[in-house]
Amino acid sequence: MPIYEYQPIKSGCSYCGQGFDVLQKISDQPLQSCPKCGGEVRRAISRFSACVTEPAPEAASLDTKLNDYEAEGKWSHAAELADKAGWQERAMDNYKKAGYNF
Ligand SMILES: [Zn+2]
Repeated sequence: MPIYEYQPIKSGCSYCGQGFDVLQKISDQPLQSCPKCGGEVRRAISRFSACVTEPAPEAASLDTKLNDYEAEGKWSHAAELADKAGWQERAMDNYKKAGYNF
């Protein structure tokens, strides 16, 4: 789920005055007002929108394939796949098992 950043339109309270983050589904309606003071807020460009996205539909099958590679000890294949899927930690883990040193 993406994290959205909100900012007060006028002067906010101690909660919204500096802006605040809300974890929302993409399908959720944006907040219109601060949950604490009820002041009007607007959604700012999320700082995390570039890296926090909904999982791609193929993520499940990628995961299955990755598990296969790992089960078979094909570490470099697994690492490449994990890398492509954006699973950095898992990619690093597999690269290490494949004998790469970072
Ligand atoms: Zn407020």
